Amino acid sequence: KNSNLVKIGQDAVNKMEITAQNKNQTLSFITKYEFLSVYVDKDRIEQVIINIISNAIKYTPSGGHIQVQVYRDKNYAVALIKDNGIGIPKRAIPRLFERFYRVDKARSREMGGTGLGLSIAKQIVVAHDGEIFVESKEGIGTEVFIKIPISKKKD
Ligand code: ATP
Ligand code: MG
Repeated sequence: KNSNLVKIGQDAVNKMEITAQNKNQTLSFITKYEFLSVYVDKDRIEQVIINIISNAIKYTPSGGHIQVQVYRDKNYAVALIKDNGIGIPKRAIPRLFERFYRVDKARSREMGGTGLGLSIAKQIVVAHDGEIFVESKEGIGTEVFIKIPISKKKD
């Protein structure tokens, strides 16, 4: 069924607002679009965006900023989740989507989690003919791009 990625992104942000507030972080949603049609299981795609926002909150210190943007890039609708947190070392970026992979073992043990979040997110996005990738700089922050083909079907 066709869904609206703008609505899915906004719903995900609304659900994570309190979690960010509890860490004194701002979580904002920015788009100039009202409707970007994607043919997806909307609950699963919302879960993916929530999962990426959870990472942003987890790996960003108190007082940080997290921003979710939804926009169109050619034939894709894109959800971009940005943070100004601890960032990811360059050498780790190619391995992020492996099951159980976590960047700094000692540091991430204290954080809790299994290292499955991004691998599951990738499976779901790829099942929708989409793409997910990460750009990051250590000490500066992280950007996660989720790209889903724009649907041209009538319904
Ligand atoms: P889980 O999601 O299973 O609870 P996790 O968050 O450790 O555990 P992933 O979501 O798969 O696992 O992320 C893998 C690793 O990538 C994390 O352990 C962390 O080191 C790094 N990472 C993910 N998102 C960010 C981010 N926004 N900023 C910095 N590091 C990140
Ligand atoms: Mg995670």
